[in-house]
Amino acid sequence: MSLKSRAEGVSTRLVSHPQPPASLLGITPPELAAAFTEMGEPAFRARQVLEWTFQKRAAGIEGMSSLPKALRAALAERFVTRTMSIARVTGSKDTTRKFLLRLSDGRYVETVLIPANPALYGGKSDRRTLCVSSQVGCAYDCKFCASGLAGFTRNLTAAEIVEQIVQVEQHTGERVDNLVFMGMGEPLANYSHVTKAIEILNAEWGVGIGARHMTVSTSGLAPQIRRLADFPLQIRLAISLHGATDEVRDRIMPVNRKHPLGELFAALEVWHEKRKQHLTFEFILIENVNDSLEQARALARLARPLEAKVNLIPYNTVEGLPWTRPSEECQDAFLGALLKAGVKATLRREKGHDIAAACGQLRLKQETAEGIIESPVPARRVTIGAGA
Ligand code: SAH
Repeated sequence: MSLKSRAEGVSTRLVSHPQPPASLLGITPPELAAAFTEMGEPAFRARQVLEWTFQKRAAGIEGMSSLPKALRAALAERFVTRTMSIARVTGSKDTTRKFLLRLSDGRYVETVLIPANPALYGGKSDRRTLCVSSQVGCAYDCKFCASGLAGFTRNLTAAEIVEQIVQVEQHTGERVDNLVFMGMGEPLANYSHVTKAIEILNAEWGVGIGARHMTVSTSGLAPQIRRLADFPLQIRLAISLHGATDEVRDRIMPVNRKHPLGELFAALEVWHEKRKQHLTFEFILIENVNDSLEQARALARLARPLEAKVNLIPYNTVEGLPWTRPSEECQDAFLGALLKAGVKATLRREKGHDIAAACGQLRLKQETAEGIIESPVPARRVTIGAGA
């Protein structure tokens, strides 16, 4: 097909279908009711469609057998039930499993299923925790993280966030009990889609995961933390702290120059006053960067007034990045200093190191292999060498 005729083909298609079909997984009952009113269909049909979508998990509109054929055809012009496919699964049952999902625009995100985890974010012991992505890539450029290596591409829609759970449940045949927004992306930079997805995931008509079983993790977007403090669902909040002083945090997390610790902790105090849930601080231990006992003591001073719990995570090495994890003795000493200072803390010898489970690594490999993005590693090496 010549370029010209291909362009014409596209414009014809655009004229006949002005709106791309919307995913039913990202739609709320009032939105669906409005669409049904517009189509001249009774409201009970919308309720049936919701039930097919979330309770019966219909994989396609044609399978919604209690709806008249003509309605199914009309619905199929406006809606779809799936927008992504599983491109690859790494790991096995009973271990950490990583799903590489191909989006409708050919990009990839990752979702990681972690079985039988002891209560990491409060609450009862977690049985099956899913770690979901909120964006393709990430704009925050944390120096140790694979997700930001190729920069930011786009936000995920609420439907794409919800579909990660639906795809994994469909593949494994089991329900997910806990969700953490700790995959690729900065969830609070995609606030409206993430909170809409949480509402759908929590709703009884939707996926039905308890709000207390969902944790949003942020690199420290102070204004959005204040906003989230008024979000009605009682979700949990984790902060990727990774540095207990501005000096250390500035070096590894550029977001700290925009929202330094003073501003971040002012927002966390607001959260702490308004919400009952305890906060969690994530702290990856990186050798000779943030693993000193002075850092541990400074961290204890930050955590104590907020009654925050600290999760220590030995750094997962990322191909092409120079950082390493400290020795186990050093990790234990850091933990000991926190506990001695009266802070609730755990050291998580992480699962999934062997399958490139640190966020963003698998997608980076896939997109680089397909030539969607250039390998970001060499350029980054220079920056790090100069900055560190
Ligand atoms: N942007 C959000 C959500 C991503 S969460 C946030 O920063 O919280 C992903 C978690 O994995 C974060 O705590 C991040 O700092 C951590 N992480 C990233 N790269 C890692 C690595 N190589 N090893 C261990 N943890 C890593």
